[in-house]
Amino acid sequence: MAARILMGKEFAQKFKAEAQKGAASIREKYGVTPGLAVAIVGDDPASQVYVRNKHKTCEELGIFSQVISLPATITPDDLMAQIDALNADKRIHGLLVQLPLPQHLRAYEGKILERIDPLKDVDGFHPVNVGRLSLGKPGLVPCTPLGCIKMLELAGIEIDGKRAVIIGRSNIVGKPMAKLLLARNATVTICHSHTQNLAAITREADILVAAVGRPEFVTADMVKPNATVIDVGINRLAPKKLVGDVDFAAVQEVAGAITPVPGGVGLLTVAMLMQNVVAAAKMQLQQTQ
Ligand code: NAD
Repeated sequence: MAARILMGKEFAQKFKAEAQKGAASIREKYGVTPGLAVAIVGDDPASQVYVRNKHKTCEELGIFSQVISLPATITPDDLMAQIDALNADKRIHGLLVQLPLPQHLRAYEGKILERIDPLKDVDGFHPVNVGRLSLGKPGLVPCTPLGCIKMLELAGIEIDGKRAVIIGRSNIVGKPMAKLLLARNATVTICHSHTQNLAAITREADILVAAVGRPEFVTADMVKPNATVIDVGINRLAPKKLVGDVDFAAVQEVAGAITPVPGGVGLLTVAMLMQNVVAAAKMQLQQTQ
């Protein structure tokens, strides 16, 4: 039987509506509009599309949005000074630096991300928020894995006691996804480029998350019948051809539920960013009371 297709759009609409409601209730309670600042360095076309999309979504949901476009030649010190100013700006509750940074700044990426006030760190990349997630404490969680876990919950897919396997151990997707699943009592395995007998491990998964960045890497023989398969991968094969990390056509014949690419979890990331801005605003406003 063909799998249930988990369409990102349906979930994203719900998550955005929640963010809109949250922003309205903050305005009502505190007389403050939650605000997001995105600093973009250089003119990478893909990054510009992502940033425009964030800005547009903020406007739709009643969130103040500021895009700070900085020259590719900016020095690390000048970029940090910009972050300091945004950390101090009362209109801004969420702050992120769009990645990837231009080549000459990549060596400073950790330092730059650590400069962001953890209370405003709506990407959830600051070590304080990484630590809070590891400890199971409330904090700001990276948007893509947060979207995946909320989608699983909303779809009614059982996590407690299930075997979850994640392919990919990045700080942005794989590791936080593992922590979120663990916090919901899944038995979690993280696989990566050095993992041996990968297919034998993935075949044990009730929930399989692919975050590899390799087109159609997960084939039908790697999937347990009736498993839930979450495809985080975005691979551009041609200007208008995007595929995920999962061989969708073949795997949907085996899986119980599956996310498509495009149209799957990719749509959830911005929705979760909006929720993080609202959550960050709430935390900051509660602290000042
Ligand atoms: P990454 O390159 O940082 O990490 C890839 C991971 O895959 C690594 O941990 C590596 O060990 C693992 N890997 C590579 N080859 C492997 C192999 N042969 N076997 C097992 N593991 C292997 O990538 P990332 O930032 O985690 O992103 C992963 C994918 O998700 C990319 O396609 C990216 O574009 C996509 N992505 C999508 C969103 C979104 O939907 N909004 C957000 C972030 C990333």
